[in-house]
Amino acid sequence: MTNDPSAHHTVPSSPDDGRLYDEQTESADGAAVDGNIHVGYWDSAADDRSLDQATDRLTDLVAGRLAAAPGRRLLDVGCGTGRPALRIARATGARVSGISVSEPDIDLARTRADASALADRVDFRYADACALPFESASFDGAWAIESMMHISDRAAALTEIARTLRPGSPLVITDVLLRSPVTGEAAETVCQTCRAFQSPSFPGPEELRTALGRAGLEVVEFNDIGEQVQRTYQAFADAFDGVAPSVDDPHYEFFNSTRSLPRFGALPQIGYVFLVARRP
Ligand code: SAH
Repeated sequence: MTNDPSAHHTVPSSPDDGRLYDEQTESADGAAVDGNIHVGYWDSAADDRSLDQATDRLTDLVAGRLAAAPGRRLLDVGCGTGRPALRIARATGARVSGISVSEPDIDLARTRADASALADRVDFRYADACALPFESASFDGAWAIESMMHISDRAAALTEIARTLRPGSPLVITDVLLRSPVTGEAAETVCQTCRAFQSPSFPGPEELRTALGRAGLEVVEFNDIGEQVQRTYQAFADAFDGVAPSVDDPHYEFFNSTRSLPRFGALPQIGYVFLVARRP
């Protein structure tokens, strides 16, 4: 559960990242969230949004921090199957480039873009966050929804993202946050979830702040919205309830983990970061 400082910068940080999302692409798309591969956000216990609506809500909160507008160019780091990018492009009129280390993600995202008539403003391509195929200072804003957790060398990815931002532009990051170190049974639960999500480790607050600082980015907002997203874990467990994989199923670890997600999400050490940084 530590970062690998020797992670290379030219190929995906973990060769497994793409594979996991090849699997999740299939699962998540057919299941409850239709293309959003991230948590939902509920204001309070009285908020009766569905999981699907709550995941769009998180996307909208991200969009609200991007100062997006027609003519502006945005980068989606770890775009999944493209639903957040398309939603933000549609709502704001901005141009969006999405990148991911999963070819099936990219194929699906392109299909979605074609079907949405937004293909002239939204493009998707296979690329690693640590080696972005874009010129320096080419974006007016960027976001990374639940992709940082998959990247070993987060400082390298953030430095690369910062390079592509124009001065003054925001970067919004949302991700599972390990509020404080875990030991004993809690550590086992966290490690199991890391393995299932193919995450080298969930980022901690200090690690993120240090990595952002090393990338030359200033933290503008740093919120822990763990309480507002926590309902997701039970909703996911419910959505995958009927699925009973055999132990030799290649998705066994992932499906198996969905059952224990509520236990993971209830750990006091598990939060969820919603942060805004800015390239000075
Ligand atoms: N942001 C999307 C998808 C989140 S899933 C959404 O909210 O729906 C995580 C995404 O990060 C996947 O698309 C995965 O391929 C991508 N990813 C993981 N490691 C990456 C890396 N090193 N560079 C770019 N994308 C990466």
